[in-house]
Amino acid sequence: MSSSDPVLSLIRPEILALTPYSSARKEAQAGRVWLDANENPQTPAAGRPLLNRYPEPQPPDLLARLADYYEVPADQILVTRGSDEGIDLLLRAFCRAGQDAILVTPPTYGMYAVSAAIQHARVVGVPLTAAKNFALDADAVLAAATPDVKLVFLCSPNNPTGALLDRATILRIARDLLGRAVVVVDEAYVEFAGTPSLARELADQPNLVVLRTLSKAFGLAGARCGVTLARPELIAVLQKIIAPYPVPTPVLQAALAVLTPAGLAAARTSVAALVAERQRLAAALAVLPAVRRVWPSDSNFLLLTVTDSARVMTATRAAGVVLRDRSRDHGLAQCVRMTMGTPEENNAALEIIARVQ
Ligand code: PMP
Repeated sequence: MSSSDPVLSLIRPEILALTPYSSARKEAQAGRVWLDANENPQTPAAGRPLLNRYPEPQPPDLLARLADYYEVPADQILVTRGSDEGIDLLLRAFCRAGQDAILVTPPTYGMYAVSAAIQHARVVGVPLTAAKNFALDADAVLAAATPDVKLVFLCSPNNPTGALLDRATILRIARDLLGRAVVVVDEAYVEFAGTPSLARELADQPNLVVLRTLSKAFGLAGARCGVTLARPELIAVLQKIIAPYPVPTPVLQAALAVLTPAGLAAARTSVAALVAERQRLAAALAVLPAVRRVWPSDSNFLLLTVTDSARVMTATRAAGVVLRDRSRDHGLAQCVRMTMGTPEENNAALEIIARVQ
């Protein structure tokens, strides 16, 4: 199957051939007396309940709730330590060190290039330009996708520019690259966009991978819980190379809690509040003398082109308000990024930026 399959044929042969580590919890999932994993039979008094036992490698109850939420079958889901780990696993699975490449569209999320560097994969950049409102250019991407490019990372909504990439353009790229490369759509912020996930295209587009996370809409950045959605054959390959127990028990408990009906309702309320703040802040910032442009955003942050990014950063920092300086990113001279906080936090930033000349 692997040689003719449009996705498995792109995987590093040594990964396809790899016999993965078989952890105790993978081998035995039922029992009364557990003497197989060199655990300590006692849980420490200072610890939380049941931390003396290794967790399930991919907890079925979590997979079931994620399957409901993402509207995909459970065998199309891999839970990882943040979506950052999903990015890293994809690089390891597809890119032969010193031979293969990834394609990114700068300015974009930095970990694609960092994971590529760690794997010694070349990075091909097809810039999104301010002059074209950071729109995705399918022809440019396809022209740059040389045979060594195995992964194309498209971040939608894009960090740090903030807006969605065009869905039809993403799908056109994926269709064109079938059998040549995998298109990874990073939807870390998609809940703030209010548009359907590309995950619903997984059934029709075998070379599509969608990255999601509980770090943003669900407020669980500290839990490190990311999700890779892909066809089952690819999920099975990633399962071979992920560390044995990537879902710590406290993370599992936190993730299960936010995926209950009450947790989901709370996340929807939180997203709605942050979207309202984004709209309020975009309007309020746009009229300030220090702000030249507020870029359209479908995420929980705003990218601002300011008259002098160093001044804005200095003024906010002096008041203990931390923005992200993006002025050294490709094509983002004088740009800063502001995450939506609480209304009080946002007002604090607004007041300081209002005073910058
Ligand atoms: N993708 C994008 C676009 C991000 O901005 C981030 C985090 N800032 C991540 C992935 C990583 O998220 P996680 O916390 O799930 O590792």
